[in-house]
Amino acid sequence: MKDLVVIGGGAAGFFAASEVLRKKPNASVVILEKTGKVLSKVKISGGGRCNVTHQCFEPDKLIEFYPRGNPWLKDVFRQFQVRDTLRWFEDLGVKIVPEADGRMFPSTNESQTIVDALQNGAKGPQFSLKLHSAVRRVSPGSQGFELELESGETLWSRNVLVASGGSPSGNGFSFLKDFGFSIVPPVPSLFTFNVVNHPWKELMGLSVPSATVKLEKSDLSFTGPVLVTHWGFSGPAVLKLSAFGARLLHEREYRYSFSVDWLPELSVEEVERQLFAFQLANPQKRPDQSMIFPLPKRLWEKVCEESGLSAYFNWAEAGKKKVQEATRLLKKRVFQASGKTTYKDEFVTSGGIDLDEIDAGSCQAKRFPGLFFAGEVLNVDGVTGGFNFQAAWSTAYSASSEIVRTLK
Ligand SMILES: Cc1cc2nc3c(=O)[nH]c(=O)nc-3n(C[C@H](O)[C@H](O)[C@H](O)COP(=O)(O)OP(=O)(O)OC[C@H]3O[C@@H](n4cnc5c(N)ncnc54)[C@H](O)[C@@H]3O)c2cc1C
Repeated sequence: MKDLVVIGGGAAGFFAASEVLRKKPNASVVILEKTGKVLSKVKISGGGRCNVTHQCFEPDKLIEFYPRGNPWLKDVFRQFQVRDTLRWFEDLGVKIVPEADGRMFPSTNESQTIVDALQNGAKGPQFSLKLHSAVRRVSPGSQGFELELESGETLWSRNVLVASGGSPSGNGFSFLKDFGFSIVPPVPSLFTFNVVNHPWKELMGLSVPSATVKLEKSDLSFTGPVLVTHWGFSGPAVLKLSAFGARLLHEREYRYSFSVDWLPELSVEEVERQLFAFQLANPQKRPDQSMIFPLPKRLWEKVCEESGLSAYFNWAEAGKKKVQEATRLLKKRVFQASGKTTYKDEFVTSGGIDLDEIDAGSCQAKRFPGLFFAGEVLNVDGVTGGFNFQAAWSTAYSASSEIVRTLK
């Protein structure tokens, strides 16, 4: 009978095993990993740099970055928040430093540093890691839990931590079927928008530091950097919208309209007023060569082309209607989207074990004491910027604290 079996050798699984062994060095702990490699997502995360967390030290603010998990995570973050993550890794000799946008990375700028720290942390006389050990079934017993591996081998443990990650297909929860958990069907989150017959394709690579992207027929909108890509649009504002709109967009089968306000600081009236004022003051200037707003030149030229302003050699010839059309395009350019592209730097699955099943203080199943959950297997996901790993560390911490408390 083991003290703890961890299902999944990823971020949450290794963190929890390290934490339990740090406090109970003689505990018998096994990590079961179905593949031949551990921590593979950590290794490729953040473009090989691992965006470990985000510089946000208020649990009440931190939860706002989670489309799924707010407010459940509040109790989790009160126990273990960003400051604790920094301290935890520092104790393992890893310094984590912020970037200007709040994302935090190891000072070495290499994800291998985090992989090494987590692997070095998980050690003890009764610790073992079993690779190629996919769990086929977990069942509750009178003394603990029985785990059946794909190989046919069985194990018994007083505590089980499920840290098996997200499951885009939904098949990844089948080993839990004996418990009858309610599972929120998985759908993708954090993707970029593909645009039908991309009308702005030639502007590929262009970025605007602050634009508002709004999902039509919803009240979801976000302001931030927007990037024109080969297929459509990307950038933090788009990714945030994809995360908060993940379920809605899935329901719409990824066919939807969204609008972009390229000048969110200015009202429609103010944009129109400035355009008319410029027109009046510069009758001989070419409209498409007039830089009136702090926008990339190519974007303004595109607005002139679409509004018809570029057909005129000077402002004097351009009528009022074209100015109004340019205003509309600057404030609300609607695009038709069809499909999505997974954001390769960080993608997650929304959905997983329903949080109503899990006690937030301990990440323990309410109906099955001794069975714990951590990381992406839960119906918790955050936007880009280090929030998904933070959720993995914090839930793993909550679970391991309760496991340590119950171990004699
Ligand atoms: C390309 C990419 C980059 C990312 N970059 C970042 C980033 O920089 N910052 C950030 O915050 N987030 C990032 N994320 C998200 C982050 O990686 C995940 O949220 C995080 O890894 C979740 O940790 P986890 O331990 O729950 O699951 P995982 O890391 O997915 O680990 C789960 C493990 O369980 C194993 N497993 C599954 N089923 C079984 C089974 N039945 N038996 C045994 N083992 C099993 C899997 O093989 C896997 O090793 C990124 C994701 C991707 C895909």
